[in-house]
Amino acid sequence: MKIVMVASEVVPFAKTGGLADVAGALPLALEKAGQDVIIIMPGYKAAHAIKSPEIRPFADGVSYSKIGKNIPVYFIENKEYFDRDGLYGDKNGDHKDNLERFSYFCRHALELLREIKFKPDIIHCHDWQSALVPVYLKNTLALDPFFTRTRTVFTIHNIGYQGLFAKEALPKTGLDWGVFNMDMLEYYDKINILKGGLVFSDLINTVSDTYSKEIQTKEFGFGMEGILEKRKADLFGIINGLDYSIWDPVADKKIAANFSAKDMAGKVACKEDLQKLCGLPAKAGVPLIGVVSRLAQQKGFDIVAEGIDEICRLDLQMVILGTGDLTYHQIMEAMVKKYPKVISLHLKFDDTLAHKIYAGSDMFLMPSKYEPCGLGQMISFRYGTVPIAFKTGGLADTVNARNGYIFDEYSKAALLANIKQAVRDFKSKKKWHDLALRGMKQNFSWSASAKKYIELYEKAKAR
Ligand code: ADP
Repeated sequence: MKIVMVASEVVPFAKTGGLADVAGALPLALEKAGQDVIIIMPGYKAAHAIKSPEIRPFADGVSYSKIGKNIPVYFIENKEYFDRDGLYGDKNGDHKDNLERFSYFCRHALELLREIKFKPDIIHCHDWQSALVPVYLKNTLALDPFFTRTRTVFTIHNIGYQGLFAKEALPKTGLDWGVFNMDMLEYYDKINILKGGLVFSDLINTVSDTYSKEIQTKEFGFGMEGILEKRKADLFGIINGLDYSIWDPVADKKIAANFSAKDMAGKVACKEDLQKLCGLPAKAGVPLIGVVSRLAQQKGFDIVAEGIDEICRLDLQMVILGTGDLTYHQIMEAMVKKYPKVISLHLKFDDTLAHKIYAGSDMFLMPSKYEPCGLGQMISFRYGTVPIAFKTGGLADTVNARNGYIFDEYSKAALLANIKQAVRDFKSKKKWHDLALRGMKQNFSWSASAKKYIELYEKAKAR
């Protein structure tokens, strides 16, 4: 099959979260499975800043690179739209021209396919930033013979981000007012780009089985539950895999020492290294909890913030890496002042430190209020770090009492009870080792999930 991945962030070129991991790793697995894949993403300043792989000019407004064995990556270039800091926004909030930026991206992605004569069987779009692709295909390009056999698959990575804009901006997309109604792109008198993707794509999926069911409910649907209920026969759940060439304690060059399920000695060195780096006392017997996360309510920071003072008084250490809401930055900064020997805070995006935290921590805290899939817990498993998570979405599908700690009441009390239990269990070396080992031995490689995506593409093709 000829498959196009249209995504607004792709590892190794640009990343703000899990979407980039998926858009970078799934094509590699598809290529291994013999599929003909290309990737199209915006030519951000951040992408041009990386040294390898090299990005070269390709044509007017397009540049080019390669990943995997031979996967072409095309960058839609536009100095005004993409040559700036922040993929979607900066410290002042979302970029004001995001509608123009991403409709430009989607339109030019489709034009590029014609230019390079790549007639896709499947265009796979991700989240609202590429949701206009199916909208254009079923509207402005509906009669275009180049795309008659093309089908679209749309993946929801997080239904909380929908691309909402004032209706007056609709002409900027090049679409006519015929799409602005309740059954299409209108949502309470605004343009909802994600909704357009959900209405016009041939098949829809999200990144775990549980989340695919949750988003059909009022509690998790963020207003999209109605349209998803209508499309429930076309809605699937496929859990993300992990890119084992990036997340591998045996070969990871970013960590202090390598280790494996057979020989965990390196993990001790990783913990020492992390403690030193973070200015925490080098105590092997005290459990170290890692957090790598957006500092947002979605990630459970409301209950973490409520409980953090009590958590810091337990016999443990904590390293937090992430950026997000200013309120949580401030709460955590106050804790660092109060408990400097217990908690270490890093308010930034730092891939190398993330690797060191996954490898050097004993536990990984991920009490997300909702979690479409979640990669943090899967990476932790791989590095023998035991997750403590709230039972929702992809966390419910991957964490259980045999491999970690999972609680089903979203509260500070439940969070604290689980942390306390983990701290107690940590004292028993054998019990802890067995728990960590069970996590490490699980398989979250992309091959199984890529197979499911190929089945989904076949289903879409048969439409
Ligand atoms: P999200 O909802 O943010 O996409 P996921 O768990 O699916 O959450 O994926 C988050 C990805 O981003 C993981 O690979 C995680 O390690 C990474 N990540 C998140 N915050 C940071 C940070 N501050 N520095 C480095 N990596 C980060």
